[in-house]
Amino acid sequence: MEHLKKFLEKRRDSSTLRRLSPVESRSPGRIVQDGDELVDFSSNDYIGLSNHPRLVAAAMDAIGRYGVGAGASRLMTGDLQLHHDLEAKVASFKGKERALVFNSGYQANVGIISALVGRRDAVFADRLCHASQLDGVALSGAKLFRFRHNDLDHLQELLQKGRSGFDHVLILTESVFSMDGDLAPLRALVDLKDSYDSQLMVDEAHATGVFGDCGRGRVHGEGLTSQVDLVMGTFSKALGGFGAYVAASNTVIDYLINSARSFIYSTALPPSVIASNLAALEVCESEPHRGRELLALSHSFRQVITGLGWETAGESQIVPVMIGDSCSAIRLADEMRKRGLRVLPIRPPTVPEGTARLRLSVCYSHSEEDLTAAVRAFSELR
Ligand SMILES: *Cc1c(COP(=O)(O)O)cnc(C)c1O
Repeated sequence: MEHLKKFLEKRRDSSTLRRLSPVESRSPGRIVQDGDELVDFSSNDYIGLSNHPRLVAAAMDAIGRYGVGAGASRLMTGDLQLHHDLEAKVASFKGKERALVFNSGYQANVGIISALVGRRDAVFADRLCHASQLDGVALSGAKLFRFRHNDLDHLQELLQKGRSGFDHVLILTESVFSMDGDLAPLRALVDLKDSYDSQLMVDEAHATGVFGDCGRGRVHGEGLTSQVDLVMGTFSKALGGFGAYVAASNTVIDYLINSARSFIYSTALPPSVIASNLAALEVCESEPHRGRELLALSHSFRQVITGLGWETAGESQIVPVMIGDSCSAIRLADEMRKRGLRVLPIRPPTVPEGTARLRLSVCYSHSEEDLTAAVRAFSELR
């Protein structure tokens, strides 16, 4: 166990040691930690659905009807009608032929990518793609090429050189990048994937519920639904619940049911989770202002922080404030906490060396006072 201790010491010395810190209670936009009530700028509960009365009621009703567990995997007897209702809803919400629910975004990416490609194939992934996508590639045995973030000239160069050596090619991106809050050039990616006989899979984890008409995501919002082969996303962020989905053609979905091991060999999500996810999509359609107002709020918040002299990035509800070294990021986060603001420092290896940052997610549930408090803190700490 000496080597494990050494690993931890190294992490401690470089200010990259991670620790758990329990939250005593939470509601959208707020947490209580160590007895302090804090404004939560670190959640992904972007449009405040995690305790929305319709989601809570749907979950309680499902528990009353079906109990707390699904009892088995989907291919056994855990395949409730509710799962099918949710999948039909996702397919129509996203405008694709079919959808399949996975137990989490992590499991979805690992299962889908490792099922779609293998040793004779290649994956071209944006350098900032989520760990779950990269883990899926590693598991698949496919050759991985990483292109510079949002740099389609680089992607084209790699495809030009590498495409012909492989049977199948899959291109991976996120529509809203989780740590930078910026947007992938989806239309240009679609053009490239067509010219190089490839498939395109877009991870909409941070876009669903926020971007596009009724929060249908950026792929839908830009009219690219039929050109993007797989649109994946989660119920765990803006949709306030848990689990994930992929929307695609009948063929892809039938194939995944037969080959995605994280789908096949895991117990189905509990009925309460499925029911609240279904309610979340209904709320997106009946309360479409949530995502819209959130984006407007985030844009003005980012402008104010930038105006104070901080370097920010992105164009979404995720507002990274770039700091540089991990120590300073931690110190600033501590200062924020003293001011009643919970802002997590994001450090390597989650982000590249030298790009430690405070990542603020603006949420629909934040009040004007909450945002003013953050602005005041950034002003004092400049
Ligand atoms: C959060 C996230 C995931 C994983 O989703 P979970 O449901 O939390 O497992 C996958 N991809 C991206 C881009 C994410 O941000």
